[in-house]
Amino acid sequence: MSSLADLPIRDDLRGLTPYGAPELKVAVQLNVNENTHPIPEDVARSIIEALARELLSVNRYPDREFLALRDSLARYLGGGLTRDNVWAANGSNEILQQILQAFGGPGRSVLGFPPTYSMHPIIAAGTGTEWIAGVRDTEYEISPATAVDWIERTSPDLVFFCSPNNPTGTALSLETIAAAYNATPGIVVVDEAYAEFGHSEQPTALSLLEGRERLIVTRTMSKAFAFAGARLGYLAADPAISDALRLVRLPYHLSSLTQAAAVAALAHAPEMLAMVDDIKKQRDRIEVTLRELGYHPYPSASNFVLFGGVPDAHRLFEQLLERDIIIRDLGIEGHLRVSAGTEAETTAFLRAMSELTEAR
Ligand SMILES: *Cc1c(COP(=O)(O)O)cnc(C)c1O
Repeated sequence: MSSLADLPIRDDLRGLTPYGAPELKVAVQLNVNENTHPIPEDVARSIIEALARELLSVNRYPDREFLALRDSLARYLGGGLTRDNVWAANGSNEILQQILQAFGGPGRSVLGFPPTYSMHPIIAAGTGTEWIAGVRDTEYEISPATAVDWIERTSPDLVFFCSPNNPTGTALSLETIAAAYNATPGIVVVDEAYAEFGHSEQPTALSLLEGRERLIVTRTMSKAFAFAGARLGYLAADPAISDALRLVRLPYHLSSLTQAAAVAALAHAPEMLAMVDDIKKQRDRIEVTLRELGYHPYPSASNFVLFGGVPDAHRLFEQLLERDIIIRDLGIEGHLRVSAGTEAETTAFLRAMSELTEAR
């Protein structure tokens, strides 16, 4: 038995820790922002039928260009986008990895604004891209001036935004994205994993794509679509972006089964998204109740809430775990993050919070 330290691993990977959200079997799992509603049974049935058909030709490699899936994704996004504007991979994490393989890498850098999605710096490290940590304004906002200032001071090859931002829930203004784009000759990525949970008056960065060939908007079926286990992420951008990613993707990276399952699910988009309104209701309920209990929840445009004002965050995390409820301790002092669950799960969390707060 040897240990990692004994292996001739790349010097820049020495001492790093892997992504490690705990995978505990707990009754109420509100820690990784999954959609906790199962998919409707009739949708499950049509996915199974599509998979059964596909299995008969699984001796062949899949469609390397996943045309039917790109058509379905473009139709879902609307706004005049076509298959040429769309690219997909096994989760939006793989999309981000392909983007950094093509546009980042050794000698290049990516600017992000922590606290943000923990995978952004990890994927940067994996691809040998230098991670530059910008600093947000108060309440986790990023003004156009702040974004431009960081870009001018650090000249990154890529800028990563996340909107609504994980773990804070903060939505980013289109003005900030447009200003950042104008300030850099590099690639600007907006990770919109939670776009479907946004407030209807907030337009998405998709509306900025026209005429901005270095702007990439990434999305996923993992959250709103309740499809985290199937692994399907995608992007919308100028068609030349897909040409760049074709240089780094592995051939046939999307299995025929993944493609078939995603196409079948997208054909039922309204039904798959029917839970989104309820999840938003639970999110708003968490915000209101936690504020009443004296905590400081941040306004969220996603399916989770970050809240501050916790005297001992790790202790509260442990006390909830003792009650079979898991939320997320991100190591931000005095803060915890909770995903909006079903009504019953959310009630269990809020009831426990109320009891633990009173007993304090
Ligand atoms: C959950 C999440 C993703 C999703 O990743 P997948 O690989 O598509 O499951 C991407 N970005 C952010 C910010 C997330 O929180």
